Amino acid sequence: MRRVLSVAAMLSLREEARSQNLTVGFVPTMGALHAGHGALIAEAAKRHDVVVVSVFVNPTQFGPNEDFERYPRNLELDEATIASYGGTVMFAPSVAEMYPDGPAATIDVGVIGTVLEGRHRPGHFNGVATVVKRLFDIVQADAAYFGAKDFQQTLVVKAMVAQQELPTQVVVLPTIREHDGLAMSSRNVYLSADARQHATVLYRALCEARNAIEAGERSPTVIEQKMADVLSTVRDAEVDYAVVRDSATLSDIDRLTSGNSVVCLIAAKLGTTRLIDNDVMQIP
Ligand code: AMP
Repeated sequence: MRRVLSVAAMLSLREEARSQNLTVGFVPTMGALHAGHGALIAEAAKRHDVVVVSVFVNPTQFGPNEDFERYPRNLELDEATIASYGGTVMFAPSVAEMYPDGPAATIDVGVIGTVLEGRHRPGHFNGVATVVKRLFDIVQADAAYFGAKDFQQTLVVKAMVAQQELPTQVVVLPTIREHDGLAMSSRNVYLSADARQHATVLYRALCEARNAIEAGERSPTVIEQKMADVLSTVRDAEVDYAVVRDSATLSDIDRLTSGNSVVCLIAAKLGTTRLIDNDVMQIP
């Protein structure tokens, strides 16, 4: 395992890999690593000689009243986790290294970044697109690995890669869950014991939607109402959205039809912690 803190050192390590004809896989993260990140690292380790995991809490993707300051940070622990899943390089740059001209979002991915999460977190996805572009330029990986857990983010990253004509392949892997269905997230540590118990409601609402679709329900309104009904069983869940959308564009759909790929997406606050989850389905 190598720990790389500067952009210059990362660029020279990249050159070294190129000169030895080694393939490079990349897993961008904000640290506080869990088994969800681990699954991405392990898959990259299967496919590549060198696996770079970045640990960077990106200020440009946090809103002014969000949790940038209190976001969990533990580089020693993250380094051990990366090694245990087969990662070979931890790239942990400072904010100054990443943004020598000061942190600012310079890439705009358009409408895909302004709906749903983008509406509730203005500027968030331009911040994500900007940091991922910068990281892709530095790491120059053959492929980069992202979790389906942040579904809209995967669409934003793909849009950015197309817009900027980057050569890195984007691979999306399934969401890893706790035993009771809660999607793993670095933010789950914020949940109180009560909120942690109630947090499974997002997954339960998604299962309700999936069951309804599998049973033949084709009305988005009905499916959304079913999710809302499940979510309303938890009094302290403050729902931002629980919707069914087209999985490529996130636009509204009138009716689910055969061959559609749709995604159910939920965002809700449990106490002070905002959680998101989703489920993608092909309509048979
Ligand atoms: P983060 O550190 O939260 O920015 O996440 C870094 C990467 O790990 C992103 O591609 C996330 O989608 C992915 N990720 C986070 N949680 C999970 C999970 N439970 N399952 C799979 N991937 C995840």
